[in-house]
Amino acid sequence: MQSYLDHAEKNGITLFSEGKCQFCGANTTRGIHECVELFNLGFLLDFSSEDSHISRFLSVDAHTLQHSEIHGRWNNHFHLTRMHLMRSHNVAWTYTHSPKLSDYLNAYKLKHANEVLVPPPVGERGGITTTDVQEASTSVSACMEKIDEWSESVYQAWKEHHDTVDLIAKGFLAQLYA
Ligand SMILES: [Zn+2]
Repeated sequence: MQSYLDHAEKNGITLFSEGKCQFCGANTTRGIHECVELFNLGFLLDFSSEDSHISRFLSVDAHTLQHSEIHGRWNNHFHLTRMHLMRSHNVAWTYTHSPKLSDYLNAYKLKHANEVLVPPPVGERGGITTTDVQEASTSVSACMEKIDEWSESVYQAWKEHHDTVDLIAKGFLAQLYA
């Protein structure tokens, strides 16, 4: 999927193909492209195994929130809310939850059209990055543990918006369990 190139262009962002990742600071040599590749390869996670799903959700959220400029702006709402539901409300997320959260947010957007979750400055979006996860992935369990730390570091970096997404999370849960 190359749509991150389109999003960057739409957002007026020039992507650099050398050195560290310009967004998260990952220790890459081919910049954002290598960062996205590492993420897409999924480290040591076996996507077909249900045991890996939570780690996959956590890593998708962490990566997206570290690279907001290559996604649509409402993606911040989706991924921070999902992260918040998993980390602060202990929701055991599954693939069936994601479209329900999307539907909830589609309705939410109509009432909050001007709401923007402004990302933390580049370089301040969590101290752990794709290359750290890659390096730490000497076993599946070590990989999952590092992804959890990565997620927590990004989650804390977005602290300013926790109250906003908590309201969304509570509304979503009320609807889910209605
Ligand atoms: Zn990156």
